[in-house]
Order: sequence, then structure tokens, then C-alpha cells
Amino acid sequence: MPEQTIPNKSEKQAKVFITNTIIEAEKKLGVTEQCDVIVCGGGPAGVAAAIAAARQGAKTALIEARGCLGGIWTAGLMSWIIDDANKDGVMKEISDRLKRSPDRSCNKYAYDIEQTKLELERMCVEAGVRVRLHTRVCAVQKNGDDITHIITESKSGREAWTAKAFIDATGDGDLSAQAGCSFDFGRDEKTGECQPMSLIAIFTGVKLSDIHPYVNGVPGNDWLKSKEALKKIMEAGGASPSYAVPTIFAVHEDVFLLMANHQYGAKGTNAADLTRATIEAREEVHALIEALRKNGGIWNNIRLIATSEHIGVREGRRINGLYQVGIGDLVTGIRHEDAVCRASFGIDIHSTNPDKSKAIDCEQPRTKPYDIPLRALIAKDIKNLFIAGRCISGDFFAHASYRVTGNSVALGEASGIAAAISAEKGINAHTLEWEQVKPFMTKIRE
Ligand SMILES: Cc1cc2nc3c(=O)[nH]c(=O)nc-3n(C[C@H](O)[C@H](O)[C@H](O)COP(=O)(O)OP(=O)(O)OC[C@H]3O[C@@H](n4cnc5c(N)ncnc54)[C@H](O)[C@@H]3O)c2cc1C
Repeated sequence: MPEQTIPNKSEKQAKVFITNTIIEAEKKLGVTEQCDVIVCGGGPAGVAAAIAAARQGAKTALIEARGCLGGIWTAGLMSWIIDDANKDGVMKEISDRLKRSPDRSCNKYAYDIEQTKLELERMCVEAGVRVRLHTRVCAVQKNGDDITHIITESKSGREAWTAKAFIDATGDGDLSAQAGCSFDFGRDEKTGECQPMSLIAIFTGVKLSDIHPYVNGVPGNDWLKSKEALKKIMEAGGASPSYAVPTIFAVHEDVFLLMANHQYGAKGTNAADLTRATIEAREEVHALIEALRKNGGIWNNIRLIATSEHIGVREGRRINGLYQVGIGDLVTGIRHEDAVCRASFGIDIHSTNPDKSKAIDCEQPRTKPYDIPLRALIAKDIKNLFIAGRCISGDFFAHASYRVTGNSVALGEASGIAAAISAEKGINAHTLEWEQVKPFMTKIRE
């Protein structure tokens, strides 16, 4: 048993014995809700899953750890939607509502973060979803290969919830891991090396017309040149970004997103790593804004409005499903009979090794739009568990394409429909037939 000496208040030394493990005391929990479908995680995938399941008539609960819905779009401040152009269904509804809002953005990809929070809550309430914020899923109860209950932690203490079907939309696959599902992680199974994290920031005090050459994704600007120009001007002000191709996106004429740092060697499933990455990243983001201000002129009045409370985690667990989306699918542009999403975004890997590059990996094959089948959304090891969003079953390279939010929403919607039907018919996910869910799925656009 290791022994540690800790000074007490009277400066005397107290000896404390530290053991490596403890056994938590058993506790009887009341069941808070009995549902048809429970969705864990309220990011782009989870919101779409819950709305779709509730619209299908399922009694649906959506459990989200943070104080708002939207995940990376809102808590993560990254309100830049990629791969939504070919999506109907819930994705199109969300875009249409955001475009109609009085705070609509000046750019077709970027949406106002506060308006996004509001519209997602409204859509869930209108669909009859039982939304629970500030509540984290932390354990499961199983009966054989089925989840019977999830356990949550919140200000209300520990609570149990039961459902016929569950959806893991936690991004990192927390629920599936708690249920003992097998999964893959990172580029290489041995090292677990994965893409760096980025802490998104919002700033104001400058106008789009003034800083146009440094802004990404606006008409007339080259993708790389605007980033190189931004890096140069940051360095002129005395700070070099850890992401070698830093990016500014315009949300409004005078509100901008900044993605300029890379935190390496941190796992999104490790709280100590997340803490270190967040503290280092926040220090860097402040220094980069200060460096821009030091250039004077158009940058004189730049002001940081917020850094994200939730550091952006590019990858977590990829839960093993009945089908694994692989790089070959992207190269050939595979089609599936049970397709629920057509992804068209290419492979976008932020370099996993800072000694080689601090930018985007360049050695990525050409890809074609490809289908993701429902089977990739069904956990291999648990029979009543669906997976949605970036934690679906895929390899490292495929994940770097389908993870973007337009696809996450489509995958969430499909998992919600399938989970609701499986709950209604009393058929587990492994024996659910495509013909039973196909009529309810949003059609794939060619
Ligand atoms: C830095 C960065 C930049 C990106 N840029 C873009 C971009 O420009 N455009 C784009 O479309 N995509 C972008 N992506 C990718 C995209 O954001 C994600 O892959 C996408 O958010 C996946 O959606 P999701 O719903 O699966 O996960 P998330 O958005 O991560 O949502 C998961 C949700 O689950 C909640 N949660 C997690 N664990 C638990 C738990 N145990 N209990 C309860 N709730 C839990 C979280 O709080 C969160 O709200 C970017 C990602 C990062 C990190």
C-alpha cells in the first residue's frame, strides 16, 4: 500500500494510506423514466435521433451532459455545418429554421450559436422529446446482451432510466463502452495516436470587409492563402499558432470563429488529458488574439468574446457495429441497399504527429460520395443499442470523412427511426429487417 505524507494545518505531518482501488457502496436507485427510446448525448446526432424517434411515436428521452443541446455546434462554438447540402429530413429542417432566424448568418455554412441552441430546444420540445440537460450517463445495467437501464449523474444524484432501445450519440461512444462493447481508437491500435483537439473561440471588434483576406470560406478567397496570411500576421504580432494553417470563419459581418490551435497527445476519453489540453489551448488562444491586436490598424479593437467551454475533440471510440465503414468504401463510392446517409465530404485528417506536420495530412486518397448502411449504426455486441454520429462503426480514415455534422444529423435521424420501430415491434436491432424500417427513412438524394 503506497504511503503519502501530507502536511496538515498545524504543520504537523499526517500519514495517509492510499489504496489503488475502492469498492463503491451498493445503492438502491429509483427509476426516473420508463421510455421506449433513450438517446444519450444531445449533439447534432443525438438531437436528430431524439426528434426522429419521438416523431415515430416513441416515448423518447434525450440526456445531455451540458447545459445546451447542439454539442460541437453550440457548447463547442463550431457552428460551421459541412456535408449538409445533399441532406433532406431533419438536417434540412434545422438549416431552414436557422436561415429564417433574425440572427441568420452572412455565410451559408455558419449559423448563429445562440439561435442554434434555441431552435434545437424548440424542435425537441415540439416533437415531444423529454429533454434532460446537465445530466451525464455514467453506467449501464445489462441483462445478457441487452441494456436494461442506464445510470446518470447530475445535481439530482444518481438516477436509473429504462428503455426498450438505446442510442449512443455521445460522440466518444461512452454508453457503448460502459456496456462493454468492443471499439477501435485512433490511427494505430497500439499507440492510440489520434487527431489533435482544437479550442474554438469567437471574436469581434473587426469587420469582414476589413479582414476579408484572412477569412476562410468567403467568396474570392483561396482556402490555403487566407490561412497562410493569418499565420503570418499572428507571427508578426509575436505568437505562432500550434495549428499550422489557422482558420477564421465569418459567422456575422462582425462575429468570427477562430480555430488556431492543435493539442496533441490527448485522449477525449481521459478527463486529465481534456483538462490539460483545455488549459494549454485557452492560454494559446488568448495569446494569438493579443498577437493580432499588436498588429494595430484593422486589428486594434479585436475582442475575444468566448472560448469554448467544451474543447473540440476530433475523435473518440469508434464502436464496432454489424458493418464497418472502411476507406475502400470511400474510394469506390460504395452503394448499399440499406443506405441511411450519403457522405460526400473528403478525408480530412489533422496530422496526428506534430513532429511530421502541424497541419492537415496531405497523403489522402481521392474519394467519391459513398453510402453508410444502417448496419454501421447497430452495435455488434449489444442487441438493443444503436450508435449515431462520430462514434459509429468505421475505420480511422473513413471516420475522418463521415464525422462532419451534416452526416452526423442524417445518421442520428436514421438511428432514431430504427430504434423507435425496434421498440414498437419488440424486435432487437440485430434482427430488425431493412424492409421494416425503409418506408420511414428519409430518402437518399442522388
Ligand atoms: C475542432 C473541430 C472542428 C470541426 N469542424 C467541423 C466543421 O467545420 N464542420 C462540421 O460539420 N464538423 C466539424 N467537426 C466535426 C464534428 O463537429 C463532429 O464530428 C460532430 O460534432 C459529431 O457530432 P456528434 O453528435 O456525434 O458529437 P458531438 O457534437 O461531440 O456531441 C456529443 C454530445 O454528447 C454529449 N455527451 C458526451 N458524453 C456524454 C455522456 N456520457 N452523457 C451525456 N451526454 C454526453 C456531449 O456533451 C455532446 O453534446 C469539427 C470537430 C472538431 C473537434
